[in-house]
Amino acid sequence: MTEPTPRKVDMEKIVSLCRRRGFIFPSSEIYGGLSSCWDYGPLGVELKQNIKQAWWRAVVQERDDMVGLDASILMHPQTWEASGHLKGFADPLVECKSCHLRWRSDDLKGDSCPSCGGELTEPHLFNLMFKTFIGPIEEQASVVYLRPETAQGMFVNFENVVNTTRKRLPFGIAQIGKAFRNEITTGNFIFRCREFEQMEIEFFVKPETDKQWFDYWIEERLNWYVKLGIKRENLRLRQHTKDELAHYARECYDIDYLYPMGWAELEGIANRGDFDLVQHASFSGKSLTYYDEETKQHIIPYIIEPSAGVDRTALALLCDAYDEEQAEGETRVLLHFHPTLAPIKVAVLPLSRRESLVSVAKQIYADLRQHWMVNYDDAQSIGRRYRRQDEIGTPFCVTVDFQSLEDEQATIRERDTLNQIRVPISELENTLQAKLGGEPLFVLPPGGRIWKE
Ligand code: ATP
Repeated sequence: MTEPTPRKVDMEKIVSLCRRRGFIFPSSEIYGGLSSCWDYGPLGVELKQNIKQAWWRAVVQERDDMVGLDASILMHPQTWEASGHLKGFADPLVECKSCHLRWRSDDLKGDSCPSCGGELTEPHLFNLMFKTFIGPIEEQASVVYLRPETAQGMFVNFENVVNTTRKRLPFGIAQIGKAFRNEITTGNFIFRCREFEQMEIEFFVKPETDKQWFDYWIEERLNWYVKLGIKRENLRLRQHTKDELAHYARECYDIDYLYPMGWAELEGIANRGDFDLVQHASFSGKSLTYYDEETKQHIIPYIIEPSAGVDRTALALLCDAYDEEQAEGETRVLLHFHPTLAPIKVAVLPLSRRESLVSVAKQIYADLRQHWMVNYDDAQSIGRRYRRQDEIGTPFCVTVDFQSLEDEQATIRERDTLNQIRVPISELENTLQAKLGGEPLFVLPPGGRIWKE
């Protein structure tokens, strides 16, 4: 497959926009930040929330073969023995003998330090799990780990879910939550964090149907990103080679996104076979089998795991949506977010701060906020206010002008086309609802018209 050449959007522009407009800040910035930890600001938290809601809706709400779970971050330490993380969740670490920078040896192209060219130490394995203690005594017996993935919470609850929901195979458990990895190589903004959020599915199937469900989930997950507006040409599927496969996986595909630094993993989809249930059964002494009523046999289901990252999805969406246009001698920066993901759905803008306009605009603002995240902005020229909304990806602006006082109508302006329509204020809510749901702008409500200013 020929790969498209990387596009123009560079990471600095995304980082700077995120910082300037309150999407993402370095963690504990007033103390100089904490490496590879990030805080989501007022707009970032909305974006993240919208991503998680869209995922939950697609994989739990709209399906009858999936249930949700919210397992705790701290788990019994034996979980990590059974899963193989205590032994195997490690990267090969090398250190430069001159500048003492540390690197993941499997990331390096040559055998000298990429920073100063110095000689490197022999690689040693470095476990990526964060350790802490449970209870007041800091001793070996009370060591627990911050989970490096949400998956294990779903495996250890397999029996609970089967017994309480009466779900029959095939069915899945879905979970969204924080995970922690003490990554050696960090950087690339929120692509590789030490604390991040995952959206994971563990889909339990009859062993002989694993291939079919594996293919199904690859297709399903790829389509989800496309439906959310990510350009298909910026996504690709990459199969793991035999020597790349994780210890638990029979087969694995990555959905890669063409980030500013190149193609990199956005989501991984693995066929985990019966590895997890066998391991947890053996370590816990519980029988984690499933009684198949058709064959009257106890079986160990196979597991297909689509595992996505909220932060990497947010970064892919920001990169994909970013655009610059020249308009009236100025650069218009805009984010073409799908309405479902846009942090702010509508901005209400009175043309001036005259009291008569402000009171109408404030009433519209109060009404629309019942339904969506809405901004009210009356500072500076209308052109500047439009630009501010474009830059954060607000799909629609509602402008209240002096004529609104006479005809009780307001203007809706569309972010991407800059087209405008004029609609009765009483029709605003229904009209915006339809437009946010994808109806073309020029489908007009009663009394509406195309607006040319
Ligand atoms: P990589 O090879 O990039 O380290 P991985 O193969 O270790 O990633 P998985 O264990 O498959 O990642 O985790 C599933 C998903 O969790 C990834 O596709 C990614 O979206 C997300 N993820 C994993 N590690 C991180 C991280 N350090 N920061 C942000 N997201 C992450």
